[in-house]
Amino acid sequence: MCTRCGNHHTAHQNITEFSSAALQADIGRTDEFFEECGIPAGRDLHIYPFGAYSGRTMDVLAEHFALTFGGGGSTNYSLTNPICVGSVGIGGDLAGAKALVDLTVEHRSLAIPLVHHMEPEQFDQLVALVHEQDRMGTLDVVTARDLQTHLQSLGTKS
Ligand SMILES: [Zn+2]
Repeated sequence: MCTRCGNHHTAHQNITEFSSAALQADIGRTDEFFEECGIPAGRDLHIYPFGAYSGRTMDVLAEHFALTFGGGGSTNYSLTNPICVGSVGIGGDLAGAKALVDLTVEHRSLAIPLVHHMEPEQFDQLVALVHEQDRMGTLDVVTARDLQTHLQSLGTKS
């Protein structure tokens, strides 16, 4: 499983409706936001609002980001493209998040849960569940940087 903050655009827009220039401008504004907040580490990661992407948006995003998440669900069985890593929006649904963890373990997949909002106590329970699975050796926690390094080792564009 993999979690991290990243660019999700200024107003959660469907970026497939942007021109390439408007998409680049929105990325720039979000970069400024990260800079102002003092968290530049998220500037090279991206999450597609609504999981929506196209070939054109992927081309623009590939110029700015090391990894983008969205679309495709939890089936990253043959993942090679860092500009479209499948993810699952879990909202504030702890039961759904736990089911995602169970399915990830059962099917030996790579799951990327996207969380817009979750009560801190529920988020803590989710983290505890993931750590317990990690301790038991049934699940590996993968950082965004580890995933990026792995995909680069495959010779894919980053
Ligand atoms: Zn979103």
